Amino acid sequence: MIRAIRGGAIGQNGRGVVLGLGLLGLVLLALTGCTTIPEPENMPVPGENPERPPPETHRFADTLSICSGMTVSNAPRVEISGKIADFTPLIAISGLRLAVAPVPGACLSSGYGLRDGRLHKGLDYWAALGTPILAAGNGIVAEMTYRADYGNMILIDHGHGVYTRYAHLSAFGDDVEPGEAVRAGQVVGLMGNTSDQAIPVHLHYEILTGSYRTPKGSFGLTPVDPFGSNNGAINNDAVNNGD
Ligand SMILES: [Zn+2]
Repeated sequence: MIRAIRGGAIGQNGRGVVLGLGLLGLVLLALTGCTTIPEPENMPVPGENPERPPPETHRFADTLSICSGMTVSNAPRVEISGKIADFTPLIAISGLRLAVAPVPGACLSSGYGLRDGRLHKGLDYWAALGTPILAAGNGIVAEMTYRADYGNMILIDHGHGVYTRYAHLSAFGDDVEPGEAVRAGQVVGLMGNTSDQAIPVHLHYEILTGSYRTPKGSFGLTPVDPFGSNNGAINNDAVNNGD
């Protein structure tokens, strides 16, 4: 009986050793796993097709200037050199980081806010016809269509109630499809002037927040001024088209 108890005790010690080795193995596995966690840029993007290689992405510009020779209404604060003062390539909205100027090499041709008595609810960027336009952040293509006012346009859903819109594109980017994922810096379209009206070549770019589930869909969202002066507090009924 005592032997049996001792035997049992020895057996328990043995199980303890096995348990200990098992835990050690788990710890080693976890440590090994830690060394193979991918870098943030290589992390999977929600909605992205894992079968496809990740798309090529490009850097956003570090500086932004007013277009020379243009009269820019509602321009943010500008330095003597023409550069936008306090420009940062990315701004934080609802915990996300989005590009302010999603066209490398472009200049600002119109600011956000009242223009000719109407609210301009986005930013206009000018660059040569066909210049690549980049997704401002990771997201899903929620709309990809032609409209009389916005021409060829894309709306990206970034999650957390944050969206970006890109209008007047001359063409949509390769591998950009409705419902598909796009990555920050991926080419989503090319600079153009599509619209039913005759308009100059430019990108009309909007950052929007709110719920898509309104009768107006993306046009019921609230435009955001990335330079801050009217941030988020706009009555959208005062807004009509996307010039
Ligand atoms: Zn515009």
